[in-house]
Amino acid sequence: MKHNYQELGPHILLMHAEHETDRPILAAITGSRRTLLMDAGNSPAHAELFRQELARRGRPQPDLLVLTHWHWDHSFGMSAWNAPVIAHAETAQMLHGLSGLSGTDEELEHLVREGIISEGSVKHIRLEYGSGPSRAINVFKPEVVFTGSITIELGGVSCELIHVGGDHSADSCVLHVIEDKVLFLGDALGPSVYGGPRRYSSTSFLKLLELVYHYGTEWIVESHGVPMTEEEFRADLAPWERLARLVDVFGDNRERVLLELKTYLKLEELPPGLLQGVEYFLEGAR
Ligand SMILES: [Zn+2]
Repeated sequence: MKHNYQELGPHILLMHAEHETDRPILAAITGSRRTLLMDAGNSPAHAELFRQELARRGRPQPDLLVLTHWHWDHSFGMSAWNAPVIAHAETAQMLHGLSGLSGTDEELEHLVREGIISEGSVKHIRLEYGSGPSRAINVFKPEVVFTGSITIELGGVSCELIHVGGDHSADSCVLHVIEDKVLFLGDALGPSVYGGPRRYSSTSFLKLLELVYHYGTEWIVESHGVPMTEEEFRADLAPWERLARLVDVFGDNRERVLLELKTYLKLEELPPGLLQGVEYFLEGAR
């Protein structure tokens, strides 16, 4: 397996996402005094790879860890880091609820039945941790809990973790690395994934997008994507923004939304990803 790392801005080293077992981007932000880690990884094995890379490059190990939201792929590596965890109150509450978990098949099936995780997550967890009966899953209630936002000073670089909520997960936060002009979105712009069909609410999607652009950063990073300049991000999101605006106006009128979107994009057929997005937004409009 090949792991790619990227320096972004003067203070950030990030480890790219891997889709096979749903590993999100991890990032270490290093100031003159402290190093902050964004997201814990989906397993101790994932965490270990990043730790080794930091050591190999002579970079300090994290002193503090922030979570963008509670989802397993962002949090289940947390026990592998020797650093206090900072998280939003709703993230903390969810992790507290999962803190007895060791990850047996029975427990995972129970969580699926409760709508807390999905079959897709279980498939990825089995791939990441192995299909044997014991899995080294160990989550706990974070040490530092906040509401609204929290600022972390690392020495010459400040990070602001801001609760934004949204469809994907009510506890979603974004991380703004102020001096480096980088905004980590976590999965905040994603559709809802647990407890029913995937859906997007056009109103909250547009509100989030407006917030993202309000920061005016140079880089925007979604946890399961690749870092994009703001210009690339705007171009990438333009069809989605238009789709959200159409659903805002035409509600769940599928024919009209499809027609208007094809006309706007000057396309006979929509690409599969966007077509799926149409269904998520229509679901959100019902
Ligand atoms: Zn997520």
